[in-house]
Amino acid sequence: MTENTPIDGPDARGRFGDFGGRYVAETLMPLILELEGAWDEAKADPAFLRQMDDYLRDYVGRPSALYHAERLSAHFGGAQIWFKRDELNHTGSHKINNCLGQVLLAKRMGKTRIIAETGAGQHGVATATMAARFGLPCTVFMGATDIERQQPNVFRMKLLGAQVVPVTSGTGTLKDAMNEALRDWVTHVDDTFYVIGTVAGPHPYPVMVRTFQSVIGREARAQILERAGRLPDACVACIGGGSNAMGLFHAFVPDKDVRLIGVEAAGKGIKTGQHAASLKGGAPGVLHGNRTYLLQDDDGQIIDAHSISAGLDYPGIGPEHAYLNDIGRAEYVSATDTEALDMFQLCTKLEGIIPALEPAHALARVGDLAGELGKDGLIVMNMCGRGDKDVFAVAGHLGVKI
Ligand SMILES: *Cc1c(COP(=O)(O)O)cnc(C)c1O
Repeated sequence: MTENTPIDGPDARGRFGDFGGRYVAETLMPLILELEGAWDEAKADPAFLRQMDDYLRDYVGRPSALYHAERLSAHFGGAQIWFKRDELNHTGSHKINNCLGQVLLAKRMGKTRIIAETGAGQHGVATATMAARFGLPCTVFMGATDIERQQPNVFRMKLLGAQVVPVTSGTGTLKDAMNEALRDWVTHVDDTFYVIGTVAGPHPYPVMVRTFQSVIGREARAQILERAGRLPDACVACIGGGSNAMGLFHAFVPDKDVRLIGVEAAGKGIKTGQHAASLKGGAPGVLHGNRTYLLQDDDGQIIDAHSISAGLDYPGIGPEHAYLNDIGRAEYVSATDTEALDMFQLCTKLEGIIPALEPAHALARVGDLAGELGKDGLIVMNMCGRGDKDVFAVAGHLGVKI
C-alpha cells in the first residue's frame, strides 16, 4: 500500500455527496468510532503499510498480471481488451485484498474474535482464510437459504476452522446475514472485529474497503502505462456491492478522460423485477448503516435481489458509486443472466480463462464497448474472480449433468 496510495476519503461524516454516512444504533457508535480511530492510525503507519505489502506479495500473490486478451479483442473486432487478473489471487478473487487488511487491523487493535457476513460464501472463505492464518476464531453469518445453495463454500469455511451460523430471519439471504453480524458485534463489544465484505456499511467501512482494494487500480494503471504507453479509454468492472469496481476505479478517478463503467446484474431483465441492479433499478434509502440506492418496494421494504451470480446478489450498492453516478464521473450499465452465461463460455473457449460469473457480466458490456471505441481503443477490465466455483451451476443452466 506504500506507493502512491490515494487515501483521500469522503467528508468527516463519511458522506459521499448525499450518500454514505453512519446510520447506526447508539449502541454501535462507540465501536464504529474505535474502528475509525484505529484505521486512521494504521493507514498512516509505515509499519502497517509495509506489513500489508509483504502479505500482498507473499500470501495473496500480488501484483496480479495485466493480460492482453488478444483473441477476445479480435472476436469483438474493436478495442484492445486487457484483463486485470485478480482471479489469480489466493482464494480465487479480489476478496482477499480486503480481508487481509481488515484482519491485520483487528490484530493491531488487539481483537481476538473475527465475524463476517457472507452471501455466496466467497467473502466468508476469504475471511476464514485470513483468520486461520492469524489463529483467530472466526464466526461467519450466512443466510439459511444461501447455506443450502452454497454447500462447497460452507464446507471450505468449516475446514478453515470457521463456525458457520445459519440466519433464518427475513428471507435467509445476505442482507439478513449482515443484520445478524451487526447484532452480534454490538453484543461482543470488547473482543470482536467485524470484517465487512464490500464498500458498504457505516463509515469508515466504505472508504476503508476501497483503500484495501485500491491496490488493483494502482497496479493496473502503472501496468497499462508501461505496456500500452498510455491510459485506457475505459475501465470496466462488475458490481455486487461495488468493491472490486471501486478498487479498479479509484486510481483512475482523477484521470478525467478514462471512462469508469460499472456493470450491475440485470438478472432476468430489469423490467421483470428479478434483478440485482440497485443503482439503475432501485431508489435511495438507508440499509446497513449507510444511505445509498437500494432495491425496495413502495413501503421501503428491501426486496431480494436476483442474479445467476450469487456474488452480485446484494440489494444495495456502495455509497461512493451512488455518488460517482450522481456527479456523472462513472457510468452504470447492466448485463443479464443469459449474457453472463454466454460470456462465461466465450471467454473460456477463446482465452482459456474460466471467468467467475460475476466478471462474465462485465465482459458482456466490454464487447459492446470494444465496438463503440473501435480499433484504437483500449479497455481494462477487472477479471475479479475465477469460475471454478461456478462450473456446477453453469452445467445446470446448460442442462448438462455432471
Ligand atoms: C463477491 C464478488 C463480487 C461482488 O462484490 P463486489 O464488492 O461488487 O466486488 C464480484 N466478483 C467476485 C468474483 C466476487 O467474489
